[in-house]
Amino acid sequence: MARKFFVGGNWKCNGTTEEVKKIVTKLNEAEVPSEDVVEVVVSPPFVFLTLVKSLLRSDFHVAAQNCWVRKGGAFTGEVSAEMLVNLNIPWVVIGHSERRALLNESNEFVGDKVAYALSQGLKVIACIGETLEQRESGSTMTVVAAQTKAIADKVTNWENVVLAYEPVWAIGTGKVATPAQAQEVHCELRKWLHDNVGAGVAASTRIIYGGSVNGANCKELAAQPDVDGFLVGGASLKPEFIDIIKAAT
Ligand code: PEP
Repeated sequence: MARKFFVGGNWKCNGTTEEVKKIVTKLNEAEVPSEDVVEVVVSPPFVFLTLVKSLLRSDFHVAAQNCWVRKGGAFTGEVSAEMLVNLNIPWVVIGHSERRALLNESNEFVGDKVAYALSQGLKVIACIGETLEQRESGSTMTVVAAQTKAIADKVTNWENVVLAYEPVWAIGTGKVATPAQAQEVHCELRKWLHDNVGAGVAASTRIIYGGSVNGANCKELAAQPDVDGFLVGGASLKPEFIDIIKAAT
């Protein structure tokens, strides 16, 4: 089954109104393959979501960087899935390694969040990935399988899930995984989905790579058979994001 190439831009906790407007202007001017070929989703901080959505070209979409694990209410500082739906924000990033590490989000908590966001009608970019220590001790697959299982335990319909494999040692470090390293984990993850969820889900779920992707390394990574796109951090704030969007073609 053909999987449409997916390119997400995670702007993290960056930007002012002026900077955000400049980035959106550049994106709006860019000549990129059509929506039938590549799905583009940018993820600004919460406070800029509606501004970006109102200014952004209609063939690109927006994602929140997080949402609350259950229905909203007395949870000061949180943003609920219902609120995102109310604002017509179609996507949410869940389980980013920065949140797992800095805010102690566990596999189970991430699984619950993914399930709740999906139940409210959001589409989810679910992030998984091992630390350098885990890779060096040979436990990469055990770690990412456990992270994926915590999601699979709670999710029955994978149609609106994109799985982002983001090795922690590659995020924001400039140390990108080699195409072979990325392909190896993506292939194993697809096999895991096949064996534990089903052949259809394994064939259709997009598994994207994140971690120091840039304009120079994206083509070779995109050429790997199980790399279905990217989640891009630092480079999504720069003009080279356009080259990354074009990497599929
Ligand atoms: C990310 O934050 O998801 C990411 C992949 O960051 P970077 O591209 O900067 O490594």
